[in-house]
Amino acid sequence: MLTETIAFDDERQIFTADDTSTEELVSRMTIPLSLTFQLTRNCNFRCVYCSEPPGIRTRPVEEVLEMVDKLSGMRRIIFSGGEPMAYKHFWRVLEHAQGKFERIVLSTNASMIKPGDGDRLKELVHYVDITVDGPRKQHDAIRGQYDKVIRGLRRVAEAEIPLSVICVFMQGNRNVIHYIAQTGDIFGAKKVKVLTTIPKGMSKNLFEDFTSSEDIEALEVRLREEKERNGWTPRIVMTDWMKVGQGHAILIEPNGRAVASPVWNEPECIDPFADLSKCTAEELWQAFPYKINHLAKYLERTMIVID
Ligand code: SF4
Repeated sequence: MLTETIAFDDERQIFTADDTSTEELVSRMTIPLSLTFQLTRNCNFRCVYCSEPPGIRTRPVEEVLEMVDKLSGMRRIIFSGGEPMAYKHFWRVLEHAQGKFERIVLSTNASMIKPGDGDRLKELVHYVDITVDGPRKQHDAIRGQYDKVIRGLRRVAEAEIPLSVICVFMQGNRNVIHYIAQTGDIFGAKKVKVLTTIPKGMSKNLFEDFTSSEDIEALEVRLREEKERNGWTPRIVMTDWMKVGQGHAILIEPNGRAVASPVWNEPECIDPFADLSKCTAEELWQAFPYKINHLAKYLERTMIVID
């Protein structure tokens, strides 16, 4: 039923539906539409705002594969981390996931994409998300390793894998944030996603970087003008957490714990609600408290969109 109603538009990188209400669509769902599967929390970067820092051990690979099997039939799985390519069984998991999901996505810092990996990835993923936090100086102050990131981005683009460029809007890049759209345009990104910090992980103490709805509205006006002026082709999608609401994302941590994120009423900004190593995908969905926010976000009904 849901498969007939919700489609994935590869050109715009968005789930689409007719005007059926979100509540009605949710009532027909038995498993999540999409979730983020963290293969490892290890990472070769130390981004100042990292919301998913190291400290959680990954289950043995056989158990990871079993958890992937349990999710089979879900519309989209996003392999993430930490840095997912730092996980030693990364390629094995990607190969194992083939045919089980309508869309398989890699969310990576791009620094570990070696020569030849682009062609290999093209066979295994539908698109790649890569974060660039500004031009060289600003990116390096926030995230580091600009050259490695751009090199990885170029390898993905040259392999003609669809991609999105992501950035996190902070004090350190607020005056140059529009360059992200320029970067996305150069590399043929379908979408540029502008996120804002959440009080989670390393971001917890970055109070000066938390963004108000007014800041986001001002940025929207500016990016709309710049997109028009410069003829950028990627769609720009911005997140205002006050509109998205809490807990839309389901993260499977490397140990199998399922958490809803971000939930800023909770001290760690997450709401653990299930353990995928011990339950089915249906049970996981049943236990998930933020179903409406989940679907509304992925249909971009609660997002700021600059088409
Ligand atoms: S934000 Fe991503 S790339 Fe940066 S340290 Fe955290 S996991 Fe690594």
